[in-house]
Amino acid sequence: MLAEQEQRETMQERIARIRQRLASIPEDKVLVSQQGRSDSICWECANCTPGKCEWAAELKPVWSKAIRVNSSGQALGPYAYRVQECGFFEQEEG
Ligand code: SF4
Repeated sequence: MLAEQEQRETMQERIARIRQRLASIPEDKVLVSQQGRSDSICWECANCTPGKCEWAAELKPVWSKAIRVNSSGQALGPYAYRVQECGFFEQEEG
């Protein structure tokens, strides 16, 4: 019971941390108009796994440019981010 409560609190803390992080993404990293690709380059990135990318693992914005779009109903915040430029991007093969 206590372990479950600790685990739940840890998850709540994690969600709060991620929400705070998403809310504090610098404006100069964000494109608010729909310029660029409509999807995220992460879908084609060989590093898109939690073990290789902190954006994939914890939504830490390691990228340099993303399109910000409204995401009504998303649990972690009012916006979703479609990554456009990232220094850690590696084209997935195949
Ligand atoms: S493009 Fe950048 S942010 Fe996206 S999965 Fe790859 S390394 Fe992570």
